[in-house]
Amino acid sequence: MARQTVTVVGGGLAGLSATMKLAELGCKVNLVSVVPVKRSHSVCAQGGINSVSDMTGEDDSIELHAYDTIRGGDFLADQPPVYEMCYNAPYILKMLDHIGVPFNRTASGNLDRRRFGGTLYNRTAFCGASTGQQLLYGLDEQVRRAEAKGLVQKYENHEFMRVVQNQDGEACGIVMMDIYTLDLTVLKSDAVIFATGGNGIIFGKSTNSMHNTGAAAARLFVQSGALLANSEFIQVHPTAIPGKDKYRLMSESARGEGGRVWVWGNSAKRMKNPADGELITCGVTGEKWFFLEAFYPGYGNLVARDVASRAILAVTDAGLGVDGKDQVYLDVTHLEPKTQDKLEAILDIYQKYTGEDPRIVPMKIFPAVHYTMGGLYIDWPAYDAEDRLSRFRQMTNIKGVFAAGECEYQYHGANRLGANSLLSCIYGGLVAGAECERYMQSLGKDVLSGSDGAFEEAQAKELAFKQDLFSRGGEENVHLLHEELGKVMIDKVTVRRSNSGLDEALQKLYQIRERYKHIGLSDKGNYVNQTYIFANQFKYIIENAIAIAKAARCRDESRGAHAKEGFEDRDDENWLKTSIIRYQKDLDPHISYNSVDTRYFKPVKRDYTKAVKKKIQVENPPAYVPIVTSRDYGR
Ligand SMILES: Cc1cc2nc3c(=O)[nH]c(=O)nc-3n(C[C@H](O)[C@H](O)[C@H](O)COP(=O)(O)OP(=O)(O)OC[C@H]3O[C@@H](n4cnc5c(N)ncnc54)[C@H](O)[C@@H]3O)c2cc1C
Repeated sequence: MARQTVTVVGGGLAGLSATMKLAELGCKVNLVSVVPVKRSHSVCAQGGINSVSDMTGEDDSIELHAYDTIRGGDFLADQPPVYEMCYNAPYILKMLDHIGVPFNRTASGNLDRRRFGGTLYNRTAFCGASTGQQLLYGLDEQVRRAEAKGLVQKYENHEFMRVVQNQDGEACGIVMMDIYTLDLTVLKSDAVIFATGGNGIIFGKSTNSMHNTGAAAARLFVQSGALLANSEFIQVHPTAIPGKDKYRLMSESARGEGGRVWVWGNSAKRMKNPADGELITCGVTGEKWFFLEAFYPGYGNLVARDVASRAILAVTDAGLGVDGKDQVYLDVTHLEPKTQDKLEAILDIYQKYTGEDPRIVPMKIFPAVHYTMGGLYIDWPAYDAEDRLSRFRQMTNIKGVFAAGECEYQYHGANRLGANSLLSCIYGGLVAGAECERYMQSLGKDVLSGSDGAFEEAQAKELAFKQDLFSRGGEENVHLLHEELGKVMIDKVTVRRSNSGLDEALQKLYQIRERYKHIGLSDKGNYVNQTYIFANQFKYIIENAIAIAKAARCRDESRGAHAKEGFEDRDDENWLKTSIIRYQKDLDPHISYNSVDTRYFKPVKRDYTKAVKKKIQVENPPAYVPIVTSRDYGR
């Protein structure tokens, strides 16, 4: 049988891992990326990647890693995928080490570990504070080996526009656009894997790269009926530097290495302690008030991110922001120079963008939109599911379309723990590659044989939309519409949510959807026309924004990153459910709910006020299903 071909859309950690796995299995890959692969957003990841090591002497365990992840996500994650990811994490680290990723090491030669949020254990391996870059370059090298063997063909600077399906609804390729010439072409393949990253740009300014618009996944949602899941869960990172163009992250590693968050205390002020609702005095006038340590003595500065962000907002709302503004201090000035050196990559970013040296002066930071827990719905049959072998992990509801990485919803529930994303991207990518190969083997036919006319039709639809956009001569400016959309999303759909605010947001989004019909392109050129490229994406950005706001409006509880006024408690009786979102043209999306698989850990209320290290025992854990093999790193 001829070698099968897969189109992988996205060249970040998830896309590269999937490509590597497919090449290992002898498949051919078309690797499509809107930016050069080595500029994928993963390159910006800073603080590290989680896995349990038995070398830290802390009695850490796989079970504890899985438990922290599930508790951090406020019990909304299906537990089998999380468990298997944590099982595989040490092997993934071994693979990364073998392929030459330059991790920091201890004096005895083991991988060094730092503590991250939501855990009491040092389980985060790191490369200074530029871990994502080192991981991406390591995997890129492996993919280049496959490229040299003729197994991988890269299409950088090409944007995914539409999936093509045959008459049985199976994916058989894509339409893509050259972002220089705006030419539309097709790629034929036996399956497609999506690894297109997050969607922070929906919120205007975020810590994400400017190409993280989420338009690719949203195109699949709008054009092809792909389901989204848990879109309402948007992570706001507690520590970023506000900027006119975007927010720049100051990684959790700063706190992992001992950084402390504070404001000047004020004995005359009282506020509600976010941990228990009790009225408290806001520190002592003239003294530093380390408020996270005061609210959550058990975890201090390393509480889960949703908890830290809400605490910072509560403090600035109480009028304690530094210089009367929405900002608090993140202080690493007391750290030893050798510890500061481990943070060099981020401290340099701070100095570059603010002009102040954070080794001497505390940094001024504020929460910013950072990560999307929700995304494309994927199937994930547990190891003991009766129909395990007729289903495919990481496959969306579209036959032959898989998804991995930040663009899909598994693994993090209602809130992601720091340093778990790089892990889920690599794990999910490897699983998607392996399951995609199994899917193609199971087909027993050539998907292209039933695709007569499908490519021409898909390309014609894209061409028609292109011509439509170029012919519009309205007054509306797509960039200004984006500014308005970002503002309403930040104001009403991030940390402070209420049903009235979400209703207002939805009304505004419907108006923007209407006004978008009346845009005019300021640039009508046919070469590197960024206004056109963004205008095309914006149609889908609006629908994604509506899906996020609508799912938030429907969920009447507070859980993880979703906190709603009037519904302050988590409500497991009614809302321990995954939101499943289906696009409906010109209507609100339809939302239904799936139950959550909580087989290993019973949901309990999260409490970060006490530091209790306890052993976690799991009855009937899954057998270890290895996803890393020695061939993954060329042995
Ligand atoms: C500043 C920052 C620091 C972070 N630090 C950490 C950390 O220390 N640890 C951790 O675990 N997590 C961290 N994260 C989160 C983590 O970096 C991301 O979740 C992860 O890198 C996402 O990887 P990915 O492969 O899913 O997507 P990405 O790396 O974003 O790659 C997406 C790919 O899709 C392509 N693409 C997108 N749209 C299209 C399209 N329409 N057509 C073609 N190609 C397309 C892009 O070109 C790119 O190649 C951080 C996030 C930020 C913002």
